[in-house]
Amino acid sequence: MTWVKFPDGLGTVIVDFDDPGVEVSNHYTNMAGHEQTHYYMEDVVIPPENVLTRGEDAFKEQLKALNWERLAVASISNTWALAALEHALEYAQDREQFGQPIAEFQGLEWKLSEMVTHLEASRALTYRAAEDAVARGRVPDPLQTGAANLFSGQTAETVISEALQICGANGYQQGHPLEYLYRLQRGWRFAGGTDEVQKNTIARWLKRGGAPSLLN
Ligand SMILES: Cc1cc2nc3c(=O)[nH]c(=O)nc-3n(C[C@H](O)[C@H](O)[C@H](O)COP(=O)(O)OP(=O)(O)OC[C@H]3O[C@@H](n4cnc5c(N)ncnc54)[C@H](O)[C@@H]3O)c2cc1C
Repeated sequence: MTWVKFPDGLGTVIVDFDDPGVEVSNHYTNMAGHEQTHYYMEDVVIPPENVLTRGEDAFKEQLKALNWERLAVASISNTWALAALEHALEYAQDREQFGQPIAEFQGLEWKLSEMVTHLEASRALTYRAAEDAVARGRVPDPLQTGAANLFSGQTAETVISEALQICGANGYQQGHPLEYLYRLQRGWRFAGGTDEVQKNTIARWLKRGGAPSLLN
């Protein structure tokens, strides 16, 4: 699915990558080791049945879809942070130094406490946006979604980094699950809108609707 600019506004179309005019410009490998591709398109003929949205309201529809995508990104970030926390907890309870499991050192207890606290806050923000959307039968609220996306991406990055810290040099080895998660998670602070663009969205809706009520 590709966003396009029509003479009468934006829209969404399905492009067949085998069509004449579609050119794969270059493949590159991202930080997580996954292959991504740039496509260029020139004079590609799109059959009418492949036009999904077009017209005045098309852009609004696209932004609604983006809200769902951002909520999905927040959920994925939370999942990866949880995986990292579980891994670090198990490791800390198993690994012994100075005659005791490292989980018994207060320094690591505090680290684990902060990790789970931030993760719980992040999940609460994400659930709130999702539950609100389902309860009201509409797309997620942009302010709530932006906040969930921004906070979950940053939280997951911190939680995964701290989990790696707890695993010491073991976690720093190539092929270790946390080393991979650390690189993988970084991309979610770009995908679906960068942190900075989330902040732009949050500020726009805050100014439009005011501060969220404490009673909701
Ligand atoms: C893992 C991954 C998956 C992706 N999947 C897709 C996909 O499926 N489809 C797709 O179309 N794209 C996808 N992207 C691309 C992603 O949407 C873009 O990377 C993102 O929108 C930012 O665009 P950019 O990289 O060109 O950065 P730029 O727009 O060049 O931004 C560079 C920096 O400037 C900041 N900046 C830019 N504009 C503003 C502003 N107005 N205010 C404040 N700061 C600003 C940005 O936040 C960023 O820090 C993916 C990216 C990643 C990493």
